[in-house]
Amino acid sequence: STQFEIRGLTASIEEKQILKGIDLKINGGEIHAIMGPNGTGKSTLASALMGHPKYEVTGGEVSLNGEDVLEMGVDERALAGLFLAMQYPSEITGVTNADFLRSAINARRGEGNEISLIKFVRQMEAKMKELEMNPEFMHRYLNEGFSGGEKKRNEILQMMLLEPKLVILDEIDSGLDIDALKIVAAGVNAMRDEARGFLIITHYQRLLDYIKPDFVHVMMQGRIVKSGGPELAERLEAEGYDWVKEELGIVD
Ligand code: ADP
Ligand code: MG
Ligand code: MG
Repeated sequence: STQFEIRGLTASIEEKQILKGIDLKINGGEIHAIMGPNGTGKSTLASALMGHPKYEVTGGEVSLNGEDVLEMGVDERALAGLFLAMQYPSEITGVTNADFLRSAINARRGEGNEISLIKFVRQMEAKMKELEMNPEFMHRYLNEGFSGGEKKRNEILQMMLLEPKLVILDEIDSGLDIDALKIVAAGVNAMRDEARGFLIITHYQRLLDYIKPDFVHVMMQGRIVKSGGPELAERLEAEGYDWVKEELGIVD
């Protein structure tokens, strides 16, 4: 089963240190949630793990099943099974959703092991149905003119088809109404197994009513300052973050 580990990760953006030493271990089958106020570095953590060039990793280690992730380029990380559903997915004109997905799947399967077009189309159609997506999205340009909710469903569609080993969802719940949220959550829950771990970044406890985390971590000022179980998310929802700051003597 999958083992993902982050040790002492530090990272900066434009010379400003954002991540100040993140430690986190995720085993296959586990769902970890990271919650925290705006601007504490949650998206930075996600981007740094994926190898986004804007974020400079200045220290620490990241491993996926014993492989050094920080040594890998962006494409290699995706091939190794890292997946990020982004807070703001980008639009790519001229590339259809189906083309994009088929190349991504084939890159992951490797040369000589490509999925047949028919099999791919069948799988894509089946997953789109599960996500209650309009079949026309297959041939639309990637994310172009998609609503916020459609983009989020499309990110989950990618996850389902790519079968990653580590799934990072960055505020997948933002811009989703309750029905869409339930559909997205069902998609995630269907993918939950020993082969993959999940890191779910969210502002709101609401998402965690539908995707039940095993562990909840609070991130503040570039560090994980507190970890617990689902009850921690409930307390944050009810009382906000001030009590955590008081408990830990954090001044902002
Ligand atoms: P969160 O996801 O927790 O809201 P972010 O990781 O997006 O926080 O941001 C952490 C800090 O890094 C903030 O102070 C933010 O302004 C800064 N930051 C994030 N992305 C960039 C960027 N591309 N360029 C400059 N500063 C950034
Ligand atoms: Mg934010
Ligand atoms: Mg963010």
